[in-house]
Amino acid sequence: MGALVDDIRVIREENPFESMMSRFDNAAQLLNLDPDLYKVLRVPNREITIYIPVFMDDGRIEVFTGYRVQHNFARGPAKGGIRFAPDITLDEIRALAAWMTWKCAVVNIPFGGAKGGIICDPSQMSQAELERMTRRYTAELIDFIGPERDVPAPDMNTNEQTMAWIMDTYSMHARHTVTAVVTGKPIDLSGSRGRREATGRGLLCVTNEAVKKLGLKVPEARVVVQGSGNVGGTAARLLYETGYKLVALSDIHGGIYNAKGLDIPDVMQYLAKNNSLELYPRAEPVSNHELLELDCEVLLPAATENQITSHNADKIRCRILVEGANGPTTAAADEILERKGVFVIPDILANAGGVTCSYFEWVQDRMGYFWKEELVNERLQDIMVASFNDVVKYAESHNVNNRIAAYMLAIDRVAYITRVRGIYA
Ligand code: GLU
Repeated sequence: MGALVDDIRVIREENPFESMMSRFDNAAQLLNLDPDLYKVLRVPNREITIYIPVFMDDGRIEVFTGYRVQHNFARGPAKGGIRFAPDITLDEIRALAAWMTWKCAVVNIPFGGAKGGIICDPSQMSQAELERMTRRYTAELIDFIGPERDVPAPDMNTNEQTMAWIMDTYSMHARHTVTAVVTGKPIDLSGSRGRREATGRGLLCVTNEAVKKLGLKVPEARVVVQGSGNVGGTAARLLYETGYKLVALSDIHGGIYNAKGLDIPDVMQYLAKNNSLELYPRAEPVSNHELLELDCEVLLPAATENQITSHNADKIRCRILVEGANGPTTAAADEILERKGVFVIPDILANAGGVTCSYFEWVQDRMGYFWKEELVNERLQDIMVASFNDVVKYAESHNVNNRIAAYMLAIDRVAYITRVRGIYA
């Protein structure tokens, strides 16, 4: 019986939708949110489930399940990535869609929130199969997406090529080229300079601000990064180039640790060649679990959800937690981290560099005029630093932690617009 209760508690703690809602409820209560507005904001606007038949290369038909949850449109078109993974659930996509609404509001860009996903194992599919699946998913969503409606972007296991297929499929239906229907496109296909690096660059900006605020020094600040994909890998490289001491990095299989500091370009070269960090010669192996508990100044989880939970939060030894992934910390772990005095830069602020640059891409596509990379990076830095200061000041003046401050700021902005726009009847 005890074990069953324990299992249920873990399932609930690790349900991203429960994690999101518990922070939302907490923030809404502290804001004294009007009960009617609470009813509106606690649910998504629309949830679409699609069954996607795809001809596989061997001639069989496989039917995949896909979702697009459009959480909120109050501040503008819905915005958010599409992920491909075997373990996707509707609850996860729901949470991620809501996080996009709060994230766009934290950095004050004119978008609502959405998220999409297809349950599949992209590592077992050919490029041609992925293309057919992506195109059919897009065709099924044709009435729901668009530059003024909902603008998808890359997320886990999707990339610039996936976005190019979505853009092309949408354009074929529209009978003309519509570039602003997705962001994260290849630069030559009306993508934005700096977009690929933007999430990592945003993480660098907020880490720099936090390090300054806590009076730490860059060369002495030891950084541990979990994940070496587009977010973790780019963040690790940019932090290394800025002079941080990167002591540990991991991929899906496990991590590597070197107390004297890793040579990140060398590590990245090894990873590109071997497709795995395992057996990297100039470091010791650590598991993804052990890596989170290493002694460091900055811990940057950039892999997936539920990495820091009530089971290991007590063993976390960083001063600053920079959330590169969406939802790496459960709500139950928040309290423990707060008690330990960890300075948390919550996901909806820390990793907002990606969607902020997506906003720049959408603007450039609509203008048909493209900016230099320095201009993109400068504008990104301005927004990330201003948003960091907004959240930290809000936390200090309201005596709440940074995560709840970010939620309060975001919910307040969305609630205000919802009230002023009124409810259409
Ligand atoms: N998938 C990214 C995120 O979770 C980017 C979304 C976007 O650019 O729309 O923030």
